[in-house]
Amino acid sequence: MTDSIKYLLSEDRLPKYWYNLVADLPTPPPAVLHPGTGQPIGPDDLAALFPMALIAQEVTQEREVEIPQPVRDVLAQWRPSPLFRARKLEKALDTPAKIYYKYEGVSPTGSHKPNTAVPQAFYNKEAGTKRLTTETGAGQWGSSIAYAGQYFGLEVDVYMVKVSYHQKPYRRALMQTFGARCVPSPSTETESGRAILAKDPECSGSLGIAISEAVELAGKRDDTKYALGSVLNHVLLHQSVIGLEAMEQMDMAGDDPDIIIGCAGGGSNLAGLAFPYIGRNLREGKNTRVIAVEPASCPTLTKGKFAYDFGDTASLTPLVKMHTLGSSFVPSPIHAGGLRYHGMAPLVSHAYDLGLMEARAYGQIDCFKAGVLFAKAEGIVPAPESTHAVQGAIDEALKCKASGESKTILFNLSGHGYFDMQAYTDFFDGKLVDEAYDEDVLADSLSKLPQVAAE
Ligand SMILES: *Cc1c(COP(=O)(O)O)cnc(C)c1O
Repeated sequence: MTDSIKYLLSEDRLPKYWYNLVADLPTPPPAVLHPGTGQPIGPDDLAALFPMALIAQEVTQEREVEIPQPVRDVLAQWRPSPLFRARKLEKALDTPAKIYYKYEGVSPTGSHKPNTAVPQAFYNKEAGTKRLTTETGAGQWGSSIAYAGQYFGLEVDVYMVKVSYHQKPYRRALMQTFGARCVPSPSTETESGRAILAKDPECSGSLGIAISEAVELAGKRDDTKYALGSVLNHVLLHQSVIGLEAMEQMDMAGDDPDIIIGCAGGGSNLAGLAFPYIGRNLREGKNTRVIAVEPASCPTLTKGKFAYDFGDTASLTPLVKMHTLGSSFVPSPIHAGGLRYHGMAPLVSHAYDLGLMEARAYGQIDCFKAGVLFAKAEGIVPAPESTHAVQGAIDEALKCKASGESKTILFNLSGHGYFDMQAYTDFFDGKLVDEAYDEDVLADSLSKLPQVAAE
């Protein structure tokens, strides 16, 4: 543990500051562009969607951003989250590797998402927002912002990807328990939703479509703002509590990771764990490896293009440079709903482009096998998304077994799977298939990327 990180943590072992990787990067991330003018956008262009405090965090170059005390008070309910050594998994694999995992499933909704839902709700409340609109895939984000919204007295409308709305009725019930309204997307409540349904009444939805609906509604009302559960810089900033705590906990364990692994949908839990370590690599010349694991059916980093694209399907958002499959790409309805996004956080994409991390893709069947092996050994059923990180860790541990090397692996168990048991049932019944993405669909989607002169 280095002093530069240690002072970020306070007496109660909860971080006092969020960590911002931008401050340590060798080159700044590419600008966010206005789709009409092709020029970099300013804070005012985002003011309809987000409160100024979050916009400031979106563009800050400061290394540390103070966490407001009311936010720390809520986070303290479950943070610091535990760091476990997976001794029984190590034994089951008969590997010389040491495997640790940071467990984010202890939060009120069972994933890392409340780490950013709480500050987003807080800053919106401070700015006078009455209502939040948002999208959700598998429902983890929707339930997290529903929880945080009611805590700070905000109304929450969640547009839930239709396939998940039907696959995950209990997630929906959880959102309702926290007082949110949950609408299957595409819906008839927005122009974006109606346009999609006119073309394809059976459309199973996607995060890109649900984002269009939520953004459209936030843009229409002054008292309504939009909240996003991943991808954006301020979300990655809020998630840095994971890595900051892990650094101290690994230090307490007398160990240091050689390899860090996280599943990557929009990139926020991976960045949360890995960015403080990547910053340390950059500042101190260390070589901690970081591996992003994504689903083979939605292979944003490994098969996508690093290009300017819209964050949503209806082209309502600004243009961000990111690894993308194209905003018209609708991934196959695999169970890991939280990983079904056409893009990747611009900061994760930039770090990947700079060679600061690696990426690989796995099919869902291998991931569920890994999830079951992990559950038997460690007694926690991983979220379908998190099984990708588990499979990544198992892969690396088995490489150690083959080579006889004893490496230290740290992965992020981003959430539990207790709302996802239908997916496990489908796996046990042999109903899951490894649907690869369609090459032609991807080529077509990439050919429609917006043209940007500045590139
Ligand atoms: C949302 C979610 C993910 C994927 O989102 P990231 O922004 O890539 O972290 C992964 N795991 C769980 C449990 C999630 O809820």
